[in-house]
Amino acid sequence: MDVQLLEATPNPEEVICRAARNDYMSEYGAEQSLESVMEGIEGETTEEKQRTLISNLMSHGHFGPFEHVQATFHVKGMSRSCMAQITRHRHVSFDVQSMRYVSFDDVDPADVREGELVVTPPSASDPDWIGRNQKGGAVDEETVEKRREVFASSVERAVEDYQELLELGMPPEDARFVLPIGTKVNVVMSLNARMLMHVADMRAAADAQWEIRGFTEDLLDLAAEWCPLTFEEYESSMKNRKNRLAP
Ligand SMILES: Cc1cc2nc3c(=O)[nH]c(=O)nc-3n(C[C@H](O)[C@H](O)[C@H](O)COP(=O)(O)OP(=O)(O)OC[C@H]3O[C@@H](n4cnc5c(N)ncnc54)[C@H](O)[C@@H]3O)c2cc1C
Repeated sequence: MDVQLLEATPNPEEVICRAARNDYMSEYGAEQSLESVMEGIEGETTEEKQRTLISNLMSHGHFGPFEHVQATFHVKGMSRSCMAQITRHRHVSFDVQSMRYVSFDDVDPADVREGELVVTPPSASDPDWIGRNQKGGAVDEETVEKRREVFASSVERAVEDYQELLELGMPPEDARFVLPIGTKVNVVMSLNARMLMHVADMRAAADAQWEIRGFTEDLLDLAAEWCPLTFEEYESSMKNRKNRLAP
């Protein structure tokens, strides 16, 4: 999977701090410099004051200001299984590559065996991989070799059948029914910083599946470049806490 930041609110932490300070100011903040808006907050520099304020907002559960800044990500090669999980989050906007208007008639089924078009889970090749809902523990090389072969021949056959149905004149929107849930899809998604932290609460957690966990870690890495004070604070004092219902 590849995840890139397409577009995001410029100066996000100035926006967050101006929004939060607005709540406690009698003056109209839009007519004041950031330095003056941040007066009275602990810290030597404006950045230190912003860090203090953002940390206080998080520790007090004052999450509203984080809703004013938004990021748009472009994702390549997520499985449709992972897509079904992430699209459960109702405050995220999505555009999902269509299987009605895009048909995979030029993919070589032999390449699908090697990872083209369908995501291969690590448990198909790693004998030591232990999934959350797995019966038993690690397996021997012979067993994992069988897993690898069953998985590879199953996805290859599915794509062969899909392409045969297309050749028999079936519309792509119906032929796709035989494709596996691991079929890759490209997605554009937009969400605000509060929602990103909520998604991370649920999806970077130990009980989330490996694919959505890895994806969420990629989102967090990109978010830390875009909105560093907020996501450094999230990483150090919020991530993996027990109460995952808020924000
Ligand atoms: C490990 C794991 C396993 C899961 N397994 C399953 C499963 O087996 N089957 C399944 O169906 N789902 C499953 N889910 C999905 C889960 O139940 C949620 O639907 C999904 O994570 C969306 O998160 P959310 O409920 O926080 O809602 P979001 O859409 O992310 O909304 C954010 C927050 O807004 C509030 N909110 C939004 N809409 C409403 C509303 N209508 N009413 C009240 N408050 C609202 C809530 O506070 C919510 O937490 C699983 C999730 C995880 C992390």
